Amino acid sequence: SGALLVLGLAACGGQGAGGTTDTASQQPKDLTIGVSMPTQTSERWIADGKAVKEKLEAKGYKVDLQYANDDIPTQSQQVDQMITQGADVLVIAAIDGTALSSQLQAAADKKIPVVAYDRLIRGSQNVDFYVSFDNYKVGVAQAKALLRGLGLENADGSKGTKAGPLNIEVFAGSLDDNNTHFFFQGAMDTLKPYLDNGSLVVKSKQTKLEQVAILRWQQEAAQKRMENLLTSSYNDGGKVAGVLSPYDGISRGIITALQNVGYGTAANPMPAITGQDAEIASVKLINTGVQSSTIFKDTRLLAEQAVNASVAFLEKKQPEANDTKSYDNGVKVVPSYLLPIQTVFKPDIQKQLVDSGYYTAAEVAAGQ
Ligand code: BGC
Repeated sequence: SGALLVLGLAACGGQGAGGTTDTASQQPKDLTIGVSMPTQTSERWIADGKAVKEKLEAKGYKVDLQYANDDIPTQSQQVDQMITQGADVLVIAAIDGTALSSQLQAAADKKIPVVAYDRLIRGSQNVDFYVSFDNYKVGVAQAKALLRGLGLENADGSKGTKAGPLNIEVFAGSLDDNNTHFFFQGAMDTLKPYLDNGSLVVKSKQTKLEQVAILRWQQEAAQKRMENLLTSSYNDGGKVAGVLSPYDGISRGIITALQNVGYGTAANPMPAITGQDAEIASVKLINTGVQSSTIFKDTRLLAEQAVNASVAFLEKKQPEANDTKSYDNGVKVVPSYLLPIQTVFKPDIQKQLVDSGYYTAAEVAAGQ
């Protein structure tokens, strides 16, 4: 249902579009899915938006895809507009997981189903489905990758060749993103035995989420924090052996800070640095031995699940969930479809990212 139809309906009796029309009996070409994505500064969200749009359009639906420039008022306004323009389903990757309550209420009033995309929307009854990954497991995988990168563990989890003590620093994502808490918890639970027995030492002593979080996941903010850590905690000649980083953009900020003070030579090697999203810029850095690892979350599969859920709602069916207990948004447990993740070290690039068609070999090798 397009904007004109909505206005028409609204004029004659207050009925909006969306779920109040019988979408099951309508043609895909007459149905619109509003897709609200957080930002275009990170490559993964561009890939997500593109994949969701293409897959829905291939099925004949109309798509209203908007990016909010990591600005909460912009996202609220974009979602408001999708609702007034007659969206029949909303797919939302929230910037702030709690900031969209009034928009979601407006959607619920018009019976427009809402699919939370990758990031859970908290504190609202009006979230109908969640598509994501097991975000606690992402954190566990990041910590395991750090331990492996440091040589404390082998790929199979057995004891590695190094024993420590080794200096590390830890970073986390944006506090208003629900995922941040899961990533950090999963990672810190996994590192705890090593921190407890002294084989890992956070030299800055900054281990609380509030101390290590990076607002809006910004690369520049991460670089700044790493620079501050180097000045405040490593001016005694101590070396950083590893950095737990929750996201490739943050990893690249950390890498820049370390390179600026001379890390990355044979005598002064780059610490083991983790990541997330398998962004091409970081895959190249893994390929050249600068970044240690990343976590690959296939946005094609996530987009497919978002499409499946949207289509199910439009056909007045319930989307298929494979998890109905993990994600409580504070008001209710949101039925979810969670996808598997993959850890990527250099030897995994070919099989996981190139053979799967996510990137071409040329993209990975470009400029090297
Ligand atoms: C996503 C991550 C991403 C991060 C920063 C999180 O909500 O789950 O994949 O790295 O946001 O964009």
